[in-house]
Amino acid sequence: MNPTDMFTEVLELDASDPLARFRGRFQLRTGLIYLDGNSLGALPKATPGRIAEVVAQEWGEGLITSWLGAEWSTAPARIGDKLAVLLGANPGEIISTDSTSVNIFKALTAALSLRPDRSTILSEQTNFPTDVYMMQGIEAFSDGRVKALTVAPEQVIDALDESVAVLLLTQVHYKSGRVRDMAEITRRAHDVGALVVWDLSHSAGAIDVDLNGANADFAIGCGYKFLNGGPGAPAYLFAAKRHQTATPVLSGWFGHARPFSFEEDYDPAPGIDRFLCGTPPVLGLAALETGVDLLLEANMADVRRKSLRLGDLFMQLMEPLCDRYGFSLVSERDPAARGSQVAYAHPQGYQIVQALKEYDVVADFRAPDVLRFGLTPLYLRYRDIVATVERLTEVCALEAWNKPEYQRRAAVT
Ligand SMILES: *Cc1c(COP(=O)(O)O)cnc(C)c1O
Repeated sequence: MNPTDMFTEVLELDASDPLARFRGRFQLRTGLIYLDGNSLGALPKATPGRIAEVVAQEWGEGLITSWLGAEWSTAPARIGDKLAVLLGANPGEIISTDSTSVNIFKALTAALSLRPDRSTILSEQTNFPTDVYMMQGIEAFSDGRVKALTVAPEQVIDALDESVAVLLLTQVHYKSGRVRDMAEITRRAHDVGALVVWDLSHSAGAIDVDLNGANADFAIGCGYKFLNGGPGAPAYLFAAKRHQTATPVLSGWFGHARPFSFEEDYDPAPGIDRFLCGTPPVLGLAALETGVDLLLEANMADVRRKSLRLGDLFMQLMEPLCDRYGFSLVSERDPAARGSQVAYAHPQGYQIVQALKEYDVVADFRAPDVLRFGLTPLYLRYRDIVATVERLTEVCALEAWNKPEYQRRAAVT
């Protein structure tokens, strides 16, 4: 296809995009192409006003009465129920609380308590580091009872045996974007009596997730990526109804059956509330809820379809650059195995991501050599993909990555 035909086709795709109306609901500087919504989602235009209202009215005027009057105390469960719609769970199975890392700890220890005569927490070596670090912390604290075991990604199924209490896996891999088959892996784990904790950080708001359809046990994930909940947004935890008998190790007072009775002994709340720990972060929850509400207005099938099309277009346009400039595709081509990002490896990956910023394209870099391009269907257009590859071509043609200031790694990539 010649470039003019390509451009006409892309403009037609934008014109007929059922999600086009969502772009105007986000604050995005003109000219900027933001391909990092898988790391920090863009700001919904409704969020500043909502935060201002929570601060000025609910906090400023309502003060402590807002815990009930403005429904602050039920926000974690209310937002959890909204997430349940996105993630194929039932009301009362998800709570919005704490960080993903802390929720990994909570879900793993809950699963361990349900398998008291087993010792292994299993995961894959290339899992997101915090997932593995939390396993290692539990092992260190357990005084020999718990073993944290990681194996190569393709050996996970073989490593499932009767010693495994719980398997911790990320559904969409943070670097490659590869999608794991949640239903099949859960079934294989259950066959040997193990439980599974799914990390949905790169799934929620990006791909279809059906927790109960997959017979999932526990899941956790981030609020600040595709859910657009803002920096450090509260995360969430799913516990299938049948597992809400597990006694939380982080036995904070907000998870007590009667927190305001101030009783001497811990008695966990009967349902998902037991997975709360301390006082909910009201401002963060308000921003998260605004992001989740926006996503609930969209049709997830449209989101997934557009995400895959954006990825297909990107990979198609990148082919000449792979040949000419040495990019190699890290993501899967198969749509069923690809999340909402496309990743390439390149030896100058870090410098190229830096150089792209000067061309108003924000992507990110994951060590040792991966460039990640996050595809957020709510605010990206097909023409943005064309423009990205044009600008990347220019960076490569000019070898713009050689600038001395790009050679030193920043603390956050
Ligand atoms: C982003 C991400 C996290 C982040 O955890 P935090 O506690 O929010 O810092 C954890 N796991 C995965 C798979 C992620 O992609």
